[in-house]
Amino acid sequence: MKIALVGVGKIARDQHIPSLAASPDWELAATCSRQGSVEGIPAYTDLDEMMAAHPDISVISMCMPPVPRFDFARRAIAAGRHVMLEKPPGATLSECHALEDMARKAGVSLFATWHSREANRVSAARDWLADKTITRCHITWREDVRKWHPGQDWVFDPGGMGVFDPGINALSVMTKILPAPVHLLGAELSFPANRQTPIAAQLQFTDNVSADFDWRQEGPQTWDVEVWTEVGKLHLTHGGEHMTIDGVEAGADPVVPGEYPGLYAQMAQLVRAKEIDMDLSPLRHVADALMLGKRIETDAFDW
Ligand code: NAP
Repeated sequence: MKIALVGVGKIARDQHIPSLAASPDWELAATCSRQGSVEGIPAYTDLDEMMAAHPDISVISMCMPPVPRFDFARRAIAAGRHVMLEKPPGATLSECHALEDMARKAGVSLFATWHSREANRVSAARDWLADKTITRCHITWREDVRKWHPGQDWVFDPGGMGVFDPGINALSVMTKILPAPVHLLGAELSFPANRQTPIAAQLQFTDNVSADFDWRQEGPQTWDVEVWTEVGKLHLTHGGEHMTIDGVEAGADPVVPGEYPGLYAQMAQLVRAKEIDMDLSPLRHVADALMLGKRIETDAFDW
C-alpha cells in the first residue's frame, strides 16, 4: 500500500522511515513537510496539493507534534484517506473524539498508535498479569529532556504536555498490562517557572497504582514498571524491552521485531479490515492529571 508521511522531523527519521523501508506492506510514496523530505521521494509542503497529486496514496501517517496534528488528520479523512496518528493522538480528548466520528462517517481507518505497547515484553507482561490479583504497581519513567527532545520548545508550550509526552508512553503500557482499569486520585505537577507544561509529575491512581515521571534525570535513564501480585513481582525495564518475574528473566520475543514495525503491521491489518483503533485511555489519564494535579513551581528550564 502506498503511504505518505506528514511532518518529517525527529521521529519520522528515527523510526517511521526505516520501518516503512523494511516492511513488505508499505511503499513510502510522498512526504509533506515544510522543511523535511526523504531523498528520492516526492516532497510537498502542502497536504491538499500532495493528496491531489497522489490519489493512489490511501494511507497518511501523521508524525508532527500533537497541537498541529488535528487539522492535518481532519483534511486527510475528509479526502477519504486512512490515517495513522503518532502518540499522543491529539492535544485534547475532544479533538480525538471528533476525528473518530469523522473517520466512522467517512468509512476510513484511524489508528491512535502507542509505540511503547509494542516493546518486546509488554504483551507477555499483560498475559502473565491477566489472572493475577494486583496488590501494588509503581511506574518510574525518568529521562533527560535535553537528550531526547533537544531544543523542541513545543513540548513546553500549551498542548505539548511536558513530561507527559514520555509519561504517556508509560501510561500506554499501564493501560495495556493491568487486568482492570484504574483512575487518577491525585497528582503533583512541577512546572518550571518560565514554562507552560510540567517537567515532573507524581501520580496516584486507584488500586495502589502510582507513577513518578521526571524529565530531569541525567546519566542512566529509567523506564520501569513494577507490579506486585499475590504470587510474585513482575518488573518491566528498559521501556518494556526486558521483564523479570521475581528477579528471573521471563517472556519471549514477539513475532514482529520492534515497536514501529509492530505499529505499521497493525495499521496494514486495520486498513485491510476497514477498522478503527482509537484507545484514548492513556490520554484520558493525562487529561485527568492536568485537571486534578496540584501545581508546584520549580526552577526555570532552559536548554
Ligand atoms: P519534531 O521533530 O519537533 O516535529 C516533527 C515535524 O513536525 C517537524 O520536523 C516539522 O516538520 C513538523 N511540525 C512541527 N510543528 C509543526 C506545526 N506547528 N505545523 C506543522 N508541522 C509541524 O517532533 P518529533 O520529536 O518528531 O515528535 C513528533 C511526535 O512524535 C510527537 O507527538 C512525539 O510525542 C512523538 N514521538 C517522538 C519521539 C522522539 O523521540 N522525539 C518518540 C516517539 C514519539 P516541518 O518543519 O518540515 O514541517
